[in-house]
Amino acid sequence: MINKLCIIGIGLIGGSLARALRDAGQAREIIGYGRSIGNLQQAVELGVIDRAEVSLPDAVRGADMIVLAVPVGNMADILNTLGPVLPDDSVVTDVGSVKGSVITAARAALGSRFTHFVPGHPLAGTEQSGVAASLPDLFQRRRVILTPEADTDTDALMHVRAMWEAAGAEVVSLTATDHDRILAVSSHLPHMLAYCLVDMVVRHDDYRAIMENSAGSFSDATRVAASDPVMWRDICLANRDALLHALRQYHTDLGALVKAIEKGDGKWLVNTFTRAKHARDGLNKKF
Ligand code: NAP
Repeated sequence: MINKLCIIGIGLIGGSLARALRDAGQAREIIGYGRSIGNLQQAVELGVIDRAEVSLPDAVRGADMIVLAVPVGNMADILNTLGPVLPDDSVVTDVGSVKGSVITAARAALGSRFTHFVPGHPLAGTEQSGVAASLPDLFQRRRVILTPEADTDTDALMHVRAMWEAAGAEVVSLTATDHDRILAVSSHLPHMLAYCLVDMVVRHDDYRAIMENSAGSFSDATRVAASDPVMWRDICLANRDALLHALRQYHTDLGALVKAIEKGDGKWLVNTFTRAKHARDGLNKKF
């Protein structure tokens, strides 16, 4: 049971966590801190948080659990403000989609209190943003990756793990480097492909005809291109090296596909498509 939960950034993820913990009866009081009063008022009206604060020191005072749920590009500023006012007994965690950059910022901002910072990332979300899109069951049976460092306090780690389990999630641990390398391929690359595909189509001379004649394949492949551009700019820049590696690998494979079509190499096409189909059929059992 969390006595006072402070969520910094009451959007899709922060709002969904608040709702899940409230439904599970795992948080006595939920305080929300954000930058726009309109969003915070909406969060109170929707019953997502008990109280809104526009001052960070006031928001975190007496909190036993502090969750940073702002875009990755805003984490360093928030951590720098949080460092000097962090209550002695608080555990801090985050939900950022990139871990290495957040850990570097947390280490610099929190000093000796870094041991009570537990980096995390829920593998759940939608292309929607904001508290109105938050869902109490967003994390049910979804994975949450924690990336503790060697000096992370074991009690703090246990508290964050228990919080996510109370929200319905399955919790696993990875190193931050493994997390950023794997997520570059499993999440960040598909978002880049979706953005590029839609952007190519809207600039195409036949845009109208293409859209009129588009079917499920276009919609399935591009759903995540409706995601928040600023959030994804931040993720690209924060996970630059791993994402560039994944993009270059994909670029090489796309080049091989172009060559096979140019050469009329049907065998290559069938082999590649069959290998991918078998793999995707296996994934269907998971999704
Ligand atoms: P979101 O719906 O846009 O919510 C972000 C919230 O942070 C908004 O309420 C925003 O307030 C607030 N905020 C932004 N900058 C702030 C600042 N400087 N100070 C205080 N509050 C600030 O975004 P989200 O989808 O919940 O994403 C939040 C985090 O979760 C990101 O780090 C993202 O990488 C991670 N994540 C997202 C997903 C996903 O699918 N969306 C999945 C897993 C993890 P305003 O409304 O006032 O702007």
